[in-house]
Amino acid sequence: MKVLPREAPETMRVVRLQRRPEGLPVPGVDLVLDPAAPVPRELRPGQVLVHNDFMSVDPAMRGWMRDQKSYIPPVKIGDVMRGSSIGRVLASASPSLKRGDMVNCGIELGWCEYGVTQASKLRKIQAIEGYSPSVHLGVLGGTGLTAYFGLIDVGMPKAGETVVVSAAAGATGSVVCQIAKHVYGCRVVGIAGGEEKCRWLVQELGIDGAIDYKKDGGKTLKSDLKKACPKGIDIFFDNVGGFILEAALKQINFKARVVLCGAISGYNEKSLPPGPSSYLNLVSMSARMEGFILLNYADQYDKAYSDIEKWLSQGKLKYIEEQVVGLENAPRALLKLFGVDGGNKGRLIIDIHGSSSSARL
Ligand code: NDP
Repeated sequence: MKVLPREAPETMRVVRLQRRPEGLPVPGVDLVLDPAAPVPRELRPGQVLVHNDFMSVDPAMRGWMRDQKSYIPPVKIGDVMRGSSIGRVLASASPSLKRGDMVNCGIELGWCEYGVTQASKLRKIQAIEGYSPSVHLGVLGGTGLTAYFGLIDVGMPKAGETVVVSAAAGATGSVVCQIAKHVYGCRVVGIAGGEEKCRWLVQELGIDGAIDYKKDGGKTLKSDLKKACPKGIDIFFDNVGGFILEAALKQINFKARVVLCGAISGYNEKSLPPGPSSYLNLVSMSARMEGFILLNYADQYDKAYSDIEKWLSQGKLKYIEEQVVGLENAPRALLKLFGVDGGNKGRLIIDIHGSSSSARL
């Protein structure tokens, strides 16, 4: 056993799942800040103590709060909320990591200020010039990988094809749009909530068109899609489901690919509405609708990271993130993903301690 250095804190703040939400999670009721959780005092051989610096908030978290079978077990009531994070090693009882190393913790630690875990479960990462370390939770993390494999492996884009992306201004969607447009040379149309996000997609990310699905309560979505995609849709990358999926399915081309990345419009619903009535278009258009889970591609992450880094350095990809400061604000920030407080643009990140505070190293 290695005893932690004296300066390691005895208690820390964590956020726990206190109750399973019904509908939108209620901050302070479903997700609750515990201001004085104990920090383990000893490290077993192979373990490290990590100072958590940044964590992401993800739509998948809403699924992890439900008591239901999925690709990963639900978070238990009273447990620290699960989530991906980036931190620095504060003390080590492992030869593979030393004090000061920056690490991607995956979902090992969750919503907490410090954590003890096996070094073998962490990935050592390097600072990237010009970017916050949180880029490893964004375009050089799960977000970039999801966009990469979903678009390239499932969507199979070809130059000149029309690609439509829902939740286009969000973390995954904004990367999909840029890879499709600036790497593969597709014609790209994004769907997002609000005029401002639509303008941003065209002016800042350089895609060909954007549709505000909230305009007139969604009544014009089908006609707007038709206008924006006069040659029909070859790839629909769907993050949303519901009436947006329905509208897109109506306009798919022969041999189209519908990539099911997620269906956030239903994540807070008690029971899901019936599936899209236009699914028969998959038959008449000899088209394919296929879901995927990023974890399936774990053996190919290195190639994806190197491609994404190259595209960033070539200026083909811009990384956009929105930071919320303070672990205590994470439960409220999660709601932004569902459109509360104006929603999010790009990757939503929690700066756990605030950038002005430095880790106690
Ligand atoms: P985002 O940053 O895209 O945030 C979610 C976005 O969804 C919001 O910004 C909002 O954009 C949009 N949205 C929320 N509610 C609705 C609604 N009712 N109707 C339409 N749009 C809505 O999150 P991520 O990039 O992290 O995730 C995007 C999707 O990818 C999710 O469905 C997620 O579950 C999925 N995912 C799948 C993975 C996989 O392995 N298959 C891995 C990671 C994520 P707006 O303001 O424009 O409405």
